[in-house]
Amino acid sequence: MFTSINPFTQETIAEYTPHTQAEIEQKLQRGERAYRQLLETPLEQRRQWMMQVASSLRKNATAHATLITQEMGKTLKEAKAEVLKCASSAEYFAEHIAEMLEPRPIQSDAYKSYVSYEPKGIILAIMPWNFPYWQVFRFAIPNILAGNTGLLKHASNVSGCSLAIEQVFMESGFPEGTFQSLLVSSKDLEPIVADPRIQGVTLTGSTPAGKSVAALAGKYLKKTVLELGGSDPFIVLKDADLEAAAKTAVQGRMQNAGQSCIAAKRWIVEKEIVPAFTAEVRRLLENMQQGDPMQDTTSMGPMARTDLAEDLDRQLQESISQGARLELGGTYEGCNFAPTLLTGVTNDMTAFKEETFGPLAVIIEAANEDEAIALANETDFGLGSALWTSDLDKAAHLATRIESGNVFINAMVRSDARLPFGGVKQSGYGRELSLEGTHEFLNVKTVYIQ
Ligand code: NDP
Repeated sequence: MFTSINPFTQETIAEYTPHTQAEIEQKLQRGERAYRQLLETPLEQRRQWMMQVASSLRKNATAHATLITQEMGKTLKEAKAEVLKCASSAEYFAEHIAEMLEPRPIQSDAYKSYVSYEPKGIILAIMPWNFPYWQVFRFAIPNILAGNTGLLKHASNVSGCSLAIEQVFMESGFPEGTFQSLLVSSKDLEPIVADPRIQGVTLTGSTPAGKSVAALAGKYLKKTVLELGGSDPFIVLKDADLEAAAKTAVQGRMQNAGQSCIAAKRWIVEKEIVPAFTAEVRRLLENMQQGDPMQDTTSMGPMARTDLAEDLDRQLQESISQGARLELGGTYEGCNFAPTLLTGVTNDMTAFKEETFGPLAVIIEAANEDEAIALANETDFGLGSALWTSDLDKAAHLATRIESGNVFINAMVRSDARLPFGGVKQSGYGRELSLEGTHEFLNVKTVYIQ
């Protein structure tokens, strides 16, 4: 059984029975059939259905958001924003998909040669609970518009979200089987990955999960896109707008109770401004209201599961015993972890070396900008990064030295339908969103006419 537990109240919301072998086979058949149907469907029709998905999400945003909050604990405000981001991204891709799929002419010695972008079939998506709608929609929207179909194995604590997303696609006019939810354990995925009807696998989650799925997909020669963990640096140089940097650092670290792959996990601050920066972030963190995620006044909800809170506490206690100073917070009960601030963090401490997936902010002092960049790169991960300075020429130069899939200058790292999203190093490979993401699971077919 898959059990959904409300992280704030610890009440069991619902239990879901895993799908049987026969049900899984039925889903594969439907997914394949829907793919064939989509091949015969004009793009204009698919665009209209996707606009229907967007309008359904907008119309029922509160109900979807409530489900998200109940299953994984983010505030209702955050959950609503997540649902609306899915809707606006559906609208964005519906508007731009035609140009993204436009064949690309290439001059060669042929009479005519071009590249055509064509769908391949069913893509298996293995997704996490932290943004239970957005992580799914950012895969599903461009792929389905391009003609692929989707089979979702969602995290086992958000089965309600998984089924609700399936319902949205079902009611929006797409052929039955275009997007389906699969209630299976990660242990039982091998025969599904192996099935010849599955044309690719995309996973968002931890690095160990990514490695395990990539090995499996490799065994059966299936293409993968992996969006894994991160330990993003948030670099603040001494010429930065300190107030704006502090406000964004707190938002970037604490939103979603710190459970985001692109959270600002390591604040690397030039030493001259460490005292002023510390005072400002401390003031902002003290003002946060942690509590019932359904309440409008709450700015941070609980973490999603007790084991995640326990693991964050281990990382916190280890870092303190290694010499970090606890400035604020540091307590938790169940899933409710207080916003916490550590200073004096160095590169040999757990909070620096491991990904911290919760409301733990850390300040790392850098002697100068060269050391700041070196510290930023001193990680196995390479997902996002932020750099704060008032010298934009310097920023553009330093950005080339940071080993990550994106660099945001004087801004918070975020995903955006218009921009490619993904990482390097242990943060994975491949891209989502934008033109690059849309092409990942398409057959980039060369056509040569003599
Ligand atoms: P996991 O990476 O374990 O889970 C993410 C998804 O992958 C879930 O659907 C999970 O299914 C599935 N999965 C896990 N292991 C395998 C496997 N061997 N084969 C196939 N599928 C698998 O994340 P956790 O929930 O355990 O969180 C642990 C840590 O992962 C976090 O603390 C954080 O560091 C990182 N993480 C990163 C995310 C990101 O956005 N990049 C999102 C979530 C977590 P099931 O739920 O059934 O196990």
